[in-house]
Amino acid sequence: MDRRTFCRATLGAGIATGFSLQFFHAARADTAIPAVSLTGAEIELEAAALRELGEQLQGPVVMSGHPQYNDMRRIWNGMHDKRPALIARCANPQDVSHAVTFAAERGLLVAVRGGGHSWPGKSVCDGGLMIDLADMRAVGVDTQRGTASAGGGALLHDLDSACLARGLVTTAGVVSHTGVGGFTLGGGFGRLNRKYGLAIDNLVGAEVVTADGEVRQVSADDEPELFWGLRGGGGNFGVVTRFDYRLHPFERQVLSGLLMWPIEQARDVLEFYGEWSQDLSDDLYVGPMMVTTPEGQGIVGMEVVYAGNPASGERELAPMRQIGTLMEDGVKAQDYMVLQTHEDATFHHGIRSYAKSGMAKAITQELVDAMIEAYIPDPRLAFFTHTAGGAVRRVGELDTAFPHRNAETMLITAGAWVDPGDDDAAIAGTRRWFAALEPFTGGYYDNIEFEGADSAGNYGPAYPRLRRVKAQYDPRNLFRLNSNITPA
Ligand SMILES: Cc1cc2nc3c(=O)[nH]c(=O)nc-3n(C[C@H](O)[C@H](O)[C@H](O)COP(=O)(O)OP(=O)(O)OC[C@H]3O[C@@H](n4cnc5c(N)ncnc54)[C@H](O)[C@@H]3O)c2cc1C
Repeated sequence: MDRRTFCRATLGAGIATGFSLQFFHAARADTAIPAVSLTGAEIELEAAALRELGEQLQGPVVMSGHPQYNDMRRIWNGMHDKRPALIARCANPQDVSHAVTFAAERGLLVAVRGGGHSWPGKSVCDGGLMIDLADMRAVGVDTQRGTASAGGGALLHDLDSACLARGLVTTAGVVSHTGVGGFTLGGGFGRLNRKYGLAIDNLVGAEVVTADGEVRQVSADDEPELFWGLRGGGGNFGVVTRFDYRLHPFERQVLSGLLMWPIEQARDVLEFYGEWSQDLSDDLYVGPMMVTTPEGQGIVGMEVVYAGNPASGERELAPMRQIGTLMEDGVKAQDYMVLQTHEDATFHHGIRSYAKSGMAKAITQELVDAMIEAYIPDPRLAFFTHTAGGAVRRVGELDTAFPHRNAETMLITAGAWVDPGDDDAAIAGTRRWFAALEPFTGGYYDNIEFEGADSAGNYGPAYPRLRRVKAQYDPRNLFRLNSNITPA
């Protein structure tokens, strides 16, 4: 029996035979429950230990049978329908510490859920413990120090809105219901990254619960190796319960929006972009994309953000606007928060999705040719990019654990659909589209990769150091549902 079948069968049987699989705070677990170990073996969680955990935590511990179990185990990508043995909905770092210790003492499989946006579904598991940070979303802004502190389960919307209310900003991603947790730990690309760097380039400190259950304060001065590893090494080293970010004064009316041309003009648009984008200022972010409307109209687009004076932005953007015949020019001065939320509905929770990513060092003529030839006219599929360069590139290759400083852009193909019957076709299409672009990439973005992950190859020269940090803080590899690093 494979692990998945085991979990469904045993957890289902548990409910049928009357396990009190309830939301319990005190003493409602009256019998042992089946679970899965770190190695995939079937284990039992004793009733007394479950009761003790329930008593230790301020937040609830939820198991199958509780009315909220299904809501809590669900993550953004509807493809991942997994059933943890229990969910520890932590309220504070001490709760996280108890949950980590509970799992470590029993060799129990652990998944850590920040915002739940993991494309490959790494924040939920079958039969293990889901450490759920969804109630740790508070964001505090210190205007004197110019920093913001966000709980490990905060969403980008929480961070952006708290900062913008005080005329400040830091780099956040493009869909506001993404979690700061996974986003930051993997690098963190956003519309302002050419000006302010990746999210990790703005990370000045963190609070982390490591595999030994200790709550550690981490920064360039305190536990510097751990701080280095957190900045790009994903969730490998512990559960981050607080992220501290450097902020920047920001005028929230920004020149931004989409330029769109019919797909027939893709060659003119992309060839021009390939040359013109070499010399753009750090203020200007322009990212190509290709999509198909539900009516079948192919579109080549440019996402534009100018993080400076809008009039200067108009001047710098003018040449791009003059290419071909625009079918829509949506670039205008608008509130940054509107921009940061305008894709939220498209990427709604529960959608089924699959994506591939690769880092491209340059937009060469050959890559432009490949982009044009690779286009697949299917409304379920899209090609888009995260443009880097600028401040991202100015950080040294080994200054953080993020390995792709020299990439000019991240190429992404993604499928999004609703009907499970579309799974095979949409996944195959996403792969086919990406396969045409892959020869122009070197490595991938950890936060997006589904399968075929090669952490050693992807981290390159940073990998030996990452293995040492892993060995120091998580020698048994308790935190393994991530782009996993083998302890040295
Ligand atoms: C619609 C959508 C839009 C996106 N846009 C962007 C973008 O603009 N820029 C960008 O860079 N990326 C983007 N991503 C990728 C995104 O950064 C990753 O999916 C990221 O992992 C999401 O973080 P999360 O906390 O929501 O995910 P989760 O599913 O909660 O976790 C993802 C991984 O991080 C770990 N993790 C999460 N929180 C913590 C924590 N506090 N401590 C320790 N480990 C933790 C989890 O264990 C898991 O391995 C996007 C993804 C989606 C689905």
